Amino acid sequence: MERYWSGSSINKNKEMVEHLRNYGVIKSQKVVEVMETIDRALFVPEGTPPYVDSPMQIGYNATISAPHMHAMCLELLENHLKPGMHALDVGSGTGYLTSCFAAMVGPQGRTVGIEHIPELAEFSIKNIEKSAAAPLMKDGSLAIHVADGRQGWPEFAPYDAIHVGAAAPSIPPALTEQLKPGGRLVIPVGNVFQDLKVVDKKMDGTLTVQSETSVRYVPLTSREAQLRGS
Ligand code: SAH
Repeated sequence: MERYWSGSSINKNKEMVEHLRNYGVIKSQKVVEVMETIDRALFVPEGTPPYVDSPMQIGYNATISAPHMHAMCLELLENHLKPGMHALDVGSGTGYLTSCFAAMVGPQGRTVGIEHIPELAEFSIKNIEKSAAAPLMKDGSLAIHVADGRQGWPEFAPYDAIHVGAAAPSIPPALTEQLKPGGRLVIPVGNVFQDLKVVDKKMDGTLTVQSETSVRYVPLTSREAQLRGS
C-alpha cells in the first residue's frame, strides 16, 4: 500500500510538470528534469494538495509558491544553476525551490537557503531529508540557515544565482553585492503591486534590471512584522 501511494505521488508530480510544459511555462529540459526529480508532495504540510497550481499556506503567515512560479523562477535562473555554481535562496520556506537549485548545481556546487522562521527552517530540513536532495544536504553542498535573508549569506558569495521568495520594498544592496559578475538575481519588488524583477550583473559589475511579470508574494520583512501579519 505504502509503495502504491508513493508511486502514485511521483506520477502525479510528473503530470504537474507535463501540464506546465504544455502551457509553455516550462521550456527547458533541465527544468523538466529537476521538477520531476524533486517531488513537491514532500514539501507541503500534511493535508495540503501538492500539485494544485496555486500558492498554499504553510503557517507563520507564509505560503509555498504556486508550481508555475517555481517553474518560472527556475527557467529564469537555469543558466546560472549549472553544475558547480553557487546559489542563494532567500526566504526558503518549505525548501522546495532550494532543493531544485541544489539538484541543478550538484555536489560540486553550493546552495544556501535562508529562512528567518526557525520552525519553517526545521520543517524544510525534514522535507529535504525525504527528497532526492537529501544526499546533497548530507554532503554539505546544500544547507539551510536561520537568518535575516536581507543580509544575504556572505560565506559562499559571490553567487551565480540568487532567488528571493518574498517581496522586498526595494532591492536589498547586500544581495546585489553578493551577486557574481555574470550572475542573476530574481526578486519580487513592491508592496501591494509587485513586479518580479530580473537583475543581471554584467562582467564590469554594472546592474541591469528588467520587470518580468506582476506577482503576489508575502513580504520580505522582519520576523516580528511577519508574525504580526502586518
Ligand atoms: N520559496 C518558498 C517561499 C516561502 S514564502 C517556498 O516556495 O516554499 C516566503 C518566505 O520568506 C517565508 O517562509 C518567510 O518566512 C520568509 N521570509 C520573509 N522575510 C524574510 C527575511 N527577512 N529573511 C528570511 N526569510 C524571510
